[in-house]
Amino acid sequence: MSTAEAIVGMGARAGSRTVMVSNRVALPGQTQTGGLAVALTAAIGEGSGLWLGWSGTLASDKRPPICKQSQGGLDYVLVDLPADDFEGYYHGYANRVLWPLFHYRIDLVDYHREQRDAYLRVNRVFAEALAQQLRGDDVIWVHDYHLIPLAQCLRDLGVGNRIGFFLHIPLPPPDVLNALPGHRALLGALEAYDLVGFQTRNDLQNFRHYQAQHVPITQPRCRSDAFPIGIDVDAIIRTAQANEARVAGHDLRASLSGRRLAIGVDRLDYSKGLPERFKAFERHLQSGEDAGHWTYLQIAPHSRTRVPEYQSLRRELEGLAGHINGRHARPDWTPIRYVNDSFPQSVLAGFYRAADMALITPLRDGMNLVAKEYLASQSPLDPGVLVLSRFAGAAEELPQALLVNPHDIDEVASAINTASSMPLAERQDRWHTMMDTLRGNDVGHWARRFLQTLRAPAAPPRTPTAPAEPAQKNTRQPQATLATTDGVPWQ
Ligand code: UDP
Repeated sequence: MSTAEAIVGMGARAGSRTVMVSNRVALPGQTQTGGLAVALTAAIGEGSGLWLGWSGTLASDKRPPICKQSQGGLDYVLVDLPADDFEGYYHGYANRVLWPLFHYRIDLVDYHREQRDAYLRVNRVFAEALAQQLRGDDVIWVHDYHLIPLAQCLRDLGVGNRIGFFLHIPLPPPDVLNALPGHRALLGALEAYDLVGFQTRNDLQNFRHYQAQHVPITQPRCRSDAFPIGIDVDAIIRTAQANEARVAGHDLRASLSGRRLAIGVDRLDYSKGLPERFKAFERHLQSGEDAGHWTYLQIAPHSRTRVPEYQSLRRELEGLAGHINGRHARPDWTPIRYVNDSFPQSVLAGFYRAADMALITPLRDGMNLVAKEYLASQSPLDPGVLVLSRFAGAAEELPQALLVNPHDIDEVASAINTASSMPLAERQDRWHTMMDTLRGNDVGHWARRFLQTLRAPAAPPRTPTAPAEPAQKNTRQPQATLATTDGVPWQ
């Protein structure tokens, strides 16, 4: 069964549509560089369904705020967001509060109550736009940290449909969450969902511990579980063998003058551990073992360029790459190739296949799809070695990788040395086991499992919080205060 059937076909059998909601919608044909967009594009595939998200445009009087388009049997509903609230919602609360906090970086949280309010108002805008599109038996699947209160906003509008939520980023333990002003309201809002999914058992455990500390179980219908996201294994294999990837891989290898290639592919983000990785590569160069035999290609497309922490990281990496290359380069060799462009997967797959090792060492990562894509792109005859952070979600599923603590640059340097000398038979053994895991839980399996759990008759139908009407007619004025299920207000 294809991934399209996973999401949409199951809906058809159950007699209802699956409606996806995420901050951004990946329109067909666009290059995606974020894990969520890539995964959802693969998961939704072709077929019929509905996907709602931000249009990329701020609301103005010049055009209607909601635009609908259909492609390949799928309806895309694109919503303009209010100009006054966008900054606070997206650059503020989502990316300077929730992102660092959920990646265990309390030190980088920049909390402002008015931004939290903007985040809530934007969630209401999404809820109102969605409520207009809904049929009574639609099953709604909401994605990621931008939209945590969406179900609660929908319930306030009288929507009684099944609603699931999947968090693509990590969830830290209660001690970290407790640092967030209003954390009980935010985390309590998850109780308005019928199902909450996490990337790993560790995230799930953190959620359960938080619930045990704070959230009275007033809505026992809300279930939670770990659903590690997968990739479209067959599609990546095909992509890696296609002509475009072959040419890209061949040209890259030809440029190495016989040296071996290590690769990293990460958005330029402080969660990815790039400075530590650069330093570990230098430590490897200094170790003398095999030094000079490797070229390390780091692809790091810029992201969130307006956020100061990303600007300073960029400066730091430029400084580090310059310093390491200045110290170790030879006339015919540059140890680190640091590239800020982004590449389509059709090219990346060729780069992955050309690489003898992947260095994937985030300080914290929800899953890390690049780790899985790297494995799926390898040649079975001569697979490369995956050096993987213990703190990437993928590490739970891939213990056969060379697991490292990314904070320990000596350990990462020594893993590079281990990878350098790993015999072919061992590389193949590890790779086959990891590929079996990837095949057993590809993106279609992930989507099917989540939706089957969401649709499963675990509890009687939810009683809407407002008078029952056809969902599309249920839009009411947003309430002045959104309260959590245990009555804790947001403000
Ligand atoms: N990606 C891409 N082109 C690039 C860099 C990254 O298509 O130049 C894709 C990559 O293949 C992967 C996704 O972006 O599917 C990144 O997902 P990951 O989970 O590794 O990290 P995230 O960016 O979501 O934190």
